[in-house]
Amino acid sequence: MAELRPKIVKLCKIIGGVSGVVNKIDENAPEYYSLANIVTDDEADVAIAAGLRKERTAAWLAKKVGKSVEETEKLAKHLAWIGVFRCTYDEKEGVDKYFMQIFAPGIMEMLVNNKELLETHPEVGRAFEEYTRKRMELMSAVIPQGYGLMRVIPIESAIKDDPNANDFDKLSYYLNKYNKFSVSPCSCRSSRTSINDGCGHLADEMCIQMGKGAEHYIRTGRAREITREEALEIIKRAEENGLMHDIPNIEEAGESAAICNCCSCACFGLRVGLMFGARDVIRSNYVATIDEAKCVACGMCVETCPANALKLGQKLPTRADTSAPEYKKMTDVIFSKDVWNPNYRENFEDTLPTGTAPCKAACPAHIAVQGYLKLAAQGKYTEALELIKRENPFPAVCGRICNKRCEQECTRGNVDEAVAIDEVKRFIADHDLDKATRFVPKMLNQTGKPFTEKIAIIGAGPAGMSCAYYLANKGYPVTVFDRNPVPGGMLTLGIPNFRLEKDVLNAEIDILREMGVEFKCSVEVGKDVTLQQLREQGYKGFYLAIGAQKSAKLKVPGEELKGVLGGVDFLREVNLGNKVEIGKRCAVIGGGNVAMDVCRTAVRLGAEKTYIIYRRGEEEMPADRDEVKEAKEEGVEFRFLCAPVEILGENGKVTGMKVELMELGEPDEKGRR
Ligand code: SF4
Ligand code: SF4
Ligand code: SF4
Repeated sequence: MAELRPKIVKLCKIIGGVSGVVNKIDENAPEYYSLANIVTDDEADVAIAAGLRKERTAAWLAKKVGKSVEETEKLAKHLAWIGVFRCTYDEKEGVDKYFMQIFAPGIMEMLVNNKELLETHPEVGRAFEEYTRKRMELMSAVIPQGYGLMRVIPIESAIKDDPNANDFDKLSYYLNKYNKFSVSPCSCRSSRTSINDGCGHLADEMCIQMGKGAEHYIRTGRAREITREEALEIIKRAEENGLMHDIPNIEEAGESAAICNCCSCACFGLRVGLMFGARDVIRSNYVATIDEAKCVACGMCVETCPANALKLGQKLPTRADTSAPEYKKMTDVIFSKDVWNPNYRENFEDTLPTGTAPCKAACPAHIAVQGYLKLAAQGKYTEALELIKRENPFPAVCGRICNKRCEQECTRGNVDEAVAIDEVKRFIADHDLDKATRFVPKMLNQTGKPFTEKIAIIGAGPAGMSCAYYLANKGYPVTVFDRNPVPGGMLTLGIPNFRLEKDVLNAEIDILREMGVEFKCSVEVGKDVTLQQLREQGYKGFYLAIGAQKSAKLKVPGEELKGVLGGVDFLREVNLGNKVEIGKRCAVIGGGNVAMDVCRTAVRLGAEKTYIIYRRGEEEMPADRDEVKEAKEEGVEFRFLCAPVEILGENGKVTGMKVELMELGEPDEKGRR
């Protein structure tokens, strides 16, 4: 083990600030191992001489360390390049001044923001993570109220009507106060990425420096100079992307060197509050409150809050006490080790343990049903549609063919009838079919510009098109390949027109085109073009959404006879406009929605007699009640408790079917008989 270097140990004690004296400095201390390989003893002498938080000239430092001014200036400049010193020009005195900040927030961010240093000395990235975790473990229990070392600043538009708002709670105050601005990568995200613990939020051009901080960052190549307007744009974009603002609170009162645009998944400052419960490190002067008169229960605040401070609950119609269930808020928790939350990044809970609205919980896409119902009730159809499309890009399709699990669970059904959720969705979506009122989502990503990495999606069915929608919304150039001549997959080829009109589906697909999605149909990836060839064409990402379109087999003798068709194959041929021979009498085997689509299509193709052959009873049929009713009205005859055992035929053609009569057994674990 190499011997500890006393000068580096001494420097580490100084930059530890108030806790420096008690911090144990050995070769495993993050302050030590991050500086030991990059700071020479001569440089350590200069830094120790400068002391904490005092502006020094090279001449002053030279006297202290007994070296020439030129030599000292060289050492100080290198310390500034590393990030131990901040270097700014004093116009009055006409000299550069050097200033040493505490380790974090301060020096650590500057070390990590030196890209060359981070690449050649990745231990500085590790040290930032470790320092802010290990040191805060000890410190967090004794953080005084109002300390606000990395104080959260509210979104300014949210406090614009507050006459008591303080200047230092407004970003505009800082933006107006300074004349120099720069933008650099986020140091926490850079550090996390360097240790393979990145969160996916963008690191580049995210954090804004101001005043002397900006001057130093620009001079040492850490940041790009920007205008005040550009700084405002970055702040706005961060807000649109669900990031929050923090400022380091280590300068004089009302001063700050930076505005961070943070996410709780990367930010080490927020971690102190969220992992160790030391909320006074980050506490804002504001607490979010919900205006019950305006809230439409869209749930976006819950999903967006980076601190997971909000949860969705439910109020069930009952005569019993309907007060919200008891749960501990963070502010009720007394800080101690047993309440630490080391998994705070993964353990986000959006709902109370007692659950949330049954309709939202039952919907496979978890659409905020209450939210769009209420917005629709207020006549805000576009907002309602926007909310639906956050989870489901094809509301007009779902408004026609969804099996409405939301309505099955709707608790209003216990009183009289379930809310007509799907009908409302259909109404909202149909409003959008008109080009004049069509909603095309705005591209949204942290860079504010489209990405250049091309993405190939294989399969233009609902999964592939949904993926295309959300990637295009993020700004990716997306191409969807499909072997069929038209996009839509099962929506186009598996569902008959009388249930889902093609013009409705095509109108929703057109939105994707308007968002820039390109469709390449009649191209079978794997045959016409390989993934390798697509890679060579510049595609960087692939999403395989090839579906499961094979018809289920009956596994009975005679299945190979001419005239026996798989349900999905039959529907595809009809939807493609191909002629399908069905004869005069058709038997459709099964009791689900596909069987209903097939029998109703057979009726439309001119079958004189169409039967549904189903091995259970009517109650047990999984098909929608409406579909069954309409099939009956169209003349389809139902044969329940009949299971096919053989398809009969002559000369290779179907002539009949042998069935076995069934009896319902005891309910299985799902209650099915
Ligand atoms: S649920 Fe929606 S409307 Fe209600 S407070 Fe949250 S974001 Fe606002
Ligand atoms: S109709 Fe379907 S998609 Fe719409 S909310 Fe209900 S379950 Fe979800
Ligand atoms: S739609 Fe039904 S389940 Fe959903 S919140 Fe309203 S009453 Fe409750």
